[in-house]
Amino acid sequence: MRRITLSREIEARPDPRDVNAWKGVWVIGEPSKEVLAPVTAELLSKGRELADKRGVGLSCVLLGHGLDQQASEAICHSADRVLAVDHPALESFTDQTYGEVVARLAMSERPEIILAPSTQVGRAYIPRVATALETGLTADCTGLDVDQDGTLLQTRPTFGGNLMATIVCPRHRPQMATVRPHVLRPSPRDPARSGEVLQVEVDRELFSTGMKVLETVRDEVQGPDICSCKVVVAAGRGLDAAGVEMAKELAELLDGGVGATRPVVDAGLLPDCVQIGQTGVTVAPRLYIGLGVSGAIQHTVGMQGSEIVVAINKDPDAPIFDMATYGIVADTREILPLLLKRIRELRG
Ligand code: FAD
Repeated sequence: MRRITLSREIEARPDPRDVNAWKGVWVIGEPSKEVLAPVTAELLSKGRELADKRGVGLSCVLLGHGLDQQASEAICHSADRVLAVDHPALESFTDQTYGEVVARLAMSERPEIILAPSTQVGRAYIPRVATALETGLTADCTGLDVDQDGTLLQTRPTFGGNLMATIVCPRHRPQMATVRPHVLRPSPRDPARSGEVLQVEVDRELFSTGMKVLETVRDEVQGPDICSCKVVVAAGRGLDAAGVEMAKELAELLDGGVGATRPVVDAGLLPDCVQIGQTGVTVAPRLYIGLGVSGAIQHTVGMQGSEIVVAINKDPDAPIFDMATYGIVADTREILPLLLKRIRELRG
């Protein structure tokens, strides 16, 4: 088994401007207790595509403790090799330690591209990595590609979501981008794939950041997590308080969760954790039902991965109809009671 040893002292700090000295594509895995968090498989799928275009290897970096199962999963999800930093000190996340370890590892291995998850954990430490490596970072990308020169084309909404910008980092390496969960599609899992798992040993002093986790408290969220629901009913400004109650009932009847546009959250009708869009969460359910939602881009960037989109809006020209699989031009106050009655009947 091959090993890499990381220490605080690095022999020669690589020059981020020497673009030819950096090679390979990395995906930073999301720490999760038992299994690989789904966003890692989503990033690996895109990482595979980019690595193949570049003709280089794809590595998955995992930090935590007891990573054997997660390492094999990363290989099944198309990593060529896994860099496993497996240590009891990494069981609890701290941004300083994770940031320090990933930055040191990148200085030692020099990947040209690093893709990372834009989750609460990723957002807390990936910017530290970019700063330590003296390179750029594009957050919350919705599209990624690479040109023939190896420049990573990082597309994301900008100017309040009114424009899509493609950002490049041509003169520094690595090129770093984050992507939110559910934005990319994972490739199918292949249990027959084989790959290499490298154990990364870390000098104890890299862990002595002066920070200690005393307790981990889970956030109490009422209702299902809409990011993992197969059905999401989104309440838009076209609903009043009674309409939002009907949206909740519709979601419950369909075993789904209720989401919202920003005006609904701003009005205090639903909590901000269910806001879908650019400044909220991203959902990619099998079925999305938008009730009184106009289809502003700041909302649709958070649901465009939905398989089937049903839109109910009284305005036939509402932009949401452009992306709807099924569109119903109707007043929600009239149609929702009928829809609920019919579904209740069907469900017995
Ligand atoms: P509206 O655009 O007001 O649309 C309401 C719709 O309801 C209309 O189409 C209307 O025809 C229809 N309607 C009205 N009454 C009825 C009825 N009785 N029956 C049927 N249809 C009816 N928004 C988000 O959602 N998520 C975000 O993360 C987000 N981030 C933002 C970030 C920035 C920087 C900015 C500037 C804005 C952001 N917004 C976000 C706000 C976004 O621009 C839109 O204003 C918002 O998405 C519109 O929400 P809506 O569709 O509910 O409301």
